[in-house]
Amino acid sequence: MNRPSNSGNRRILVVDDTPAIHQDFCKILGTGLDREAALASAEAALFGDAQVQRQAFELDSAYQGQEALALVIAALEQNRAYAMAFIDMRMPPGWDGLETIERLWQVDPQLQVALCTAHSDYSWEQMAERLDLGDRLLILKKPFDTIEIRQMASALTVKWQMTRDAELRMSNLEQAVEARTQELSDANIIVQNSPTILYRLRGEPSFPLMYISHNITKFGHDAAQLLASPNWAQELIHPDDQAMVDAAMARVLERDAQGASIEFRLRTGDGAYRWVENRYIPVRNKEGRLFEIEGIILDITERKLAEEKIALLARTDGLTGLANRATFSERLGQAFAACQRGATPFAIFYLDLDHFKQVNDTLGHPVGDLLLQQVSERIKRCTRASDVLARLGGDEFAILQMDMAEPANAGALAAKLQTSLALPYSLNGNQVRISASIGICPYSPSSANADAMLAQADLALYRSKDEGRNQYHFHSEDLDQQVLDRVTLANDLRRAIERDELELYYLPEVELASGRILGMEALARWNHPEQGLLGADAFIPIAEKTGTIVALGHWVLEHACRQMRLWRDKGMAPPVITVNLSLAQIKSGDELVRDVADTLGKWGLAPSDLEFDVTEATLAQTKWTRSDVLPQLRELGVKIAIDDFGTEYSSFDYLKTYRVNHLKIAQSFINAATEDPDSATTIRAIINFARELGIGIVAEGVETQEQRALLMSTGSTTQGQGFFFSEAVDNRRAGELLRQGRIVPSAQRVAAGAASGIPQEPSEAWRE
Ligand code: C2E
Ligand code: CA
Repeated sequence: MNRPSNSGNRRILVVDDTPAIHQDFCKILGTGLDREAALASAEAALFGDAQVQRQAFELDSAYQGQEALALVIAALEQNRAYAMAFIDMRMPPGWDGLETIERLWQVDPQLQVALCTAHSDYSWEQMAERLDLGDRLLILKKPFDTIEIRQMASALTVKWQMTRDAELRMSNLEQAVEARTQELSDANIIVQNSPTILYRLRGEPSFPLMYISHNITKFGHDAAQLLASPNWAQELIHPDDQAMVDAAMARVLERDAQGASIEFRLRTGDGAYRWVENRYIPVRNKEGRLFEIEGIILDITERKLAEEKIALLARTDGLTGLANRATFSERLGQAFAACQRGATPFAIFYLDLDHFKQVNDTLGHPVGDLLLQQVSERIKRCTRASDVLARLGGDEFAILQMDMAEPANAGALAAKLQTSLALPYSLNGNQVRISASIGICPYSPSSANADAMLAQADLALYRSKDEGRNQYHFHSEDLDQQVLDRVTLANDLRRAIERDELELYYLPEVELASGRILGMEALARWNHPEQGLLGADAFIPIAEKTGTIVALGHWVLEHACRQMRLWRDKGMAPPVITVNLSLAQIKSGDELVRDVADTLGKWGLAPSDLEFDVTEATLAQTKWTRSDVLPQLRELGVKIAIDDFGTEYSSFDYLKTYRVNHLKIAQSFINAATEDPDSATTIRAIINFARELGIGIVAEGVETQEQRALLMSTGSTTQGQGFFFSEAVDNRRAGELLRQGRIVPSAQRVAAGAASGIPQEPSEAWRE
């Protein structure tokens, strides 16, 4: 920056065509101690002591205007400009004084001028016409006075210096202002372009937002709108992170807190989220009172993504992208703990490629790696997204099959894996075939811990290898056999429907008192080619787990309706035919409703001729309110009974919502009631409750005269089914029963009850 000079410019140019005049000026203004002293006193008189350093003038001479101009230009070039010039008015043959001044000012407008003129020269007005006189020109009238010349020299050189200093100061000031403005604008640009958002909260509840830097627009928000919004925090913070942010804020408010730093997800204007780091800095006054809270928000999304990537790399196997051993153990631990809390079981699979080493040895490691990658792709395709797949190292893989309701499901997956993995691979032009050995350990409540399960899966894998590879084994031979049987049965069942191996048996529903047949319940039986006639319990659960139940249910509905038609045509049809309904069928939704309507139509039956049994458990899983299949069936006019009632829930409030026709009280309940007064009380309560709601009661599994008597004693239970009256019978026998219209229990049965010492009269427990 330029500084005002403190020495002062004392350079004077004397322009006069008369050489003697120059000598005079030299005498008056030149150096010399006495003159110096005189000069000093003159200046002191003029400007006061401090103003001017006492110093001699520096004189140059020019005898013509042109010469003066050359000197001025040269002085300017050397940065030694003249402070003032004494210029004679008349300087023949060249420019006169005015022209000279004009020319000099053109090159040096700062130059102060004293024009030396005689009375006869131009008047002031005339001069003003020729020159813009301004404040740079003084007139020095001839004849000259020494003092006047000194005063003029002093005054004009000092004026020059002051003007120059003022200009310098001004320009310095301007530069300073400009620099500051630039600085601020740079700072602003840095803030706008930086990923850092600054904000300020007032230091008192509810800590309103007072300022937020404009670059919040980067996140798609408008600063002004946020400032105006009382919910700015909720608008910006991910709901799941809100509690954490609140906790950090609470820390900041503690008296000695220096600040807090947290990471949370900041919502952008378009509803996406970015990870940010947020620093709170409390600003307090001297007394420690919170004045405001300053905040800094940094976008750390990229860092977070990188961290996630690193974490992922640490969790996965580099070659296949499957989980690694550490992740597998972790997930296994979680799955085991979940099962102990009652989650659906899972199964551990250990899988080892047979003779993988040969592939590596003959075709090289790169081909071996390709094979491992393709194997993992195939494993992925065989499993569900929720399953956990891992490569434990080498050619060893492991799977956690989640939601394995049934060991047979694990068997099915193992078979699927074997088939898929055995298909040929094309690896860099090489056709390769490989098989896999698998060991399985399903969770069971008796499993000691996750490690024990791993050891068992390993043992199972060993068995598979030991017994010739390319096979799967469970950890126990029993389970192997059981699963094998079930898997075979499930496959056979699919064919059984096509081969017409199924048959319907009928279980009568009777009026307890009279034995009059009020309905027939259709129950599936399977004439198995090798195992003979199978009861429903032997295959219905498998059909339910394998999904075959949907096709089976369709078959049952069709044949039950057909049978009803046949009975009706013979004039011996029961009032209603009952068909059991499974969860999977209900889940098929509208398809089921259509199937029911079509089948009823096909056999010319009224909807009220048909009743569906739905177990309490199924009902719970369908959540009546969500699936509208059952209400749709009710709408159609089909009847609904709740099967196995009393086994699942202790509260029956839901009956008010579920407008069903019958409750079928579970056999286990009936049995318990005869022995335990508490159960009897519960049953009585249920019966009363149902009666109030207009719901009929059917007692299931009535086996004895005593039970019949007990039930009848409640006054409300009028209907029942069970071996006391009849077991499920084939259609020929059912036809005979229907023709009779009622079932009179054989004297043997009644007597059997008496003979076994069972009292014929209801026990106390049953009395209301
Ligand atoms: P459920 O609906 O409770 O059927 C009654 C079962 O109890 C029948 O066994 C029947 O034979 C048996 N039972 C009847 N009275 C007595 C008795 O006094 N004492 C004893 N101990 N048992 C008696 P089943 O036929 O083996 O059926 C078992 C279960 O299989 C049925 O229970 C039903 O839930 C299911 N089921 C049977 N057929 C079908 C069908 O076609 N579709 C569907 N989805 N499920 C069926
Ligand atoms: Ca039933």
